[in-house]
Amino acid sequence: MTDLTRLTAAETAAAIATGEASAVDVAQAHLDRIGAVDEKVHAFLHVDTEGALDAARAVDERRAKGEKLGPLAGVPLALKDIFTTKGIPTTVGSKILEGWIPPYDATVTKRLKDAGIVILGKTNMDEFAMGSSTENSAYGPTGNPWDLTRIPGGSGGGSSAALASYQAPLAIGTDTGGSIRQPAAVTGTVGVKPTYGGVSRYGMVAFSSSLDQGGPCARTVLDAALLHEAIAGYDPLDSTSIDAPVPSVVEAARNGNVQGMRIGVVKEFGGEGYQAGVMQRFNESVELLRELGAEIVEISCPSFKLALPAYYLIAPSEASSNLARFDAMRYGLRVGDDGTKSAEEVTALTREAGFGDEVKRRIILGTYALSSGYYDAYYGSAQKVRTLISRDFEAAFGTVDVLVSPTTPTTAFPIGERADDPMAMYLADLCTIPSNLAGNAAMSIPCGLAPEDGLPVGLQIIAPAMADDRLYRVGAAVEAALTGRWGHPLLEEAPAL
Ligand code: GLN
Repeated sequence: MTDLTRLTAAETAAAIATGEASAVDVAQAHLDRIGAVDEKVHAFLHVDTEGALDAARAVDERRAKGEKLGPLAGVPLALKDIFTTKGIPTTVGSKILEGWIPPYDATVTKRLKDAGIVILGKTNMDEFAMGSSTENSAYGPTGNPWDLTRIPGGSGGGSSAALASYQAPLAIGTDTGGSIRQPAAVTGTVGVKPTYGGVSRYGMVAFSSSLDQGGPCARTVLDAALLHEAIAGYDPLDSTSIDAPVPSVVEAARNGNVQGMRIGVVKEFGGEGYQAGVMQRFNESVELLRELGAEIVEISCPSFKLALPAYYLIAPSEASSNLARFDAMRYGLRVGDDGTKSAEEVTALTREAGFGDEVKRRIILGTYALSSGYYDAYYGSAQKVRTLISRDFEAAFGTVDVLVSPTTPTTAFPIGERADDPMAMYLADLCTIPSNLAGNAAMSIPCGLAPEDGLPVGLQIIAPAMADDRLYRVGAAVEAALTGRWGHPLLEEAPAL
């Protein structure tokens, strides 16, 4: 029998539906793979062996009874540890939630379960999703399966590393400033930030509520589309959820085609600070899009250069407010509660012990930016920049169907290289942040390996809000063309662990 961990999610679902493989066999194969390699990779914070096998058994029983199964029934998935899971630890990569067992499922968790998707466990992440390397996790870093001494991206490095090391064919991430797309780029996987409001945030631990967006991660564009449809759609429990039909992303992924499309190349993303091999692969991808029948137009988005500073005011401001709830009274950790201290003292001791450096840095920054006397100068100005960025996108989408850029300026950097340099770390999200500020949809797909280091490069595709299907149409076309030309970068070249 073929190695069940090497199949795509679509192939896995088909094998289960036809009875070629049982869901239990598929789950066991992935649990065995986790057992064999995750000590080295450290993609998972928690593996739910029993829960996964039970969920798989339920799918097999439903099949035996002749029930119709959903398109991903029985397919295993790695879930970022930012989504609540009833009865299963949820830490958000932080010590402050160590030992907390949520009493409820996030909407995403519930939809995965309803789809018969088998949740293998919870994946490592930068604490509270703050970071671009997963080094800010309170539980230690994750290795990039392409080179374990390098970062797998962040904040969702556990999810992307699980995919690239064949520990799961599907994963879920969240993207506040790039945390789905940047890890996808540096691990040679596919990651999608849906339109803001496209996937429910209910039960997703809040970092920056106006930017946070959950989304699908996979090894192929079609697999990401299938997962997208499983988790997306209106949720009355999330007041920012969009009450409109989900764009037809699976149909788009099955019909990859850019013939006659107008594709804009963002002029501001390139040049100084961009690795030569990243630009080379990006430029080749643009050439490929032209060969496939797209019209290529250069587009200037002058406000994008202000996106990074605006983000680093807005995101910490919202975080400083959202993280106020970790007060030692309601969840997880409580330090110093020996009967002699006031509630305020216990809260302070707990937050001192429970939060890591980056989280504290952002709480301080955000509190400062929101303080009276500074509010207009910092937060107010950042919100104005946000409007300018939205206008740049509106103008661009008045002339082109999608925009493209490199996803990240460089390939995966060595663990430790930027750990003490927050500014260098923040630059990893230069190209991804504008879409979070504007709320539109964006995807990263692999577009080859950089010649100088042999590491994956990501192509970012950006679409207007509610036009997520365009990402998949373009992504599937590029994926098919690249696979035809060089072979799939991950499926054929990923190093053995
Ligand atoms: N790297 C960015 C940050 O540190 C984005 C993180 C994210 O998307 N969650 O805030």
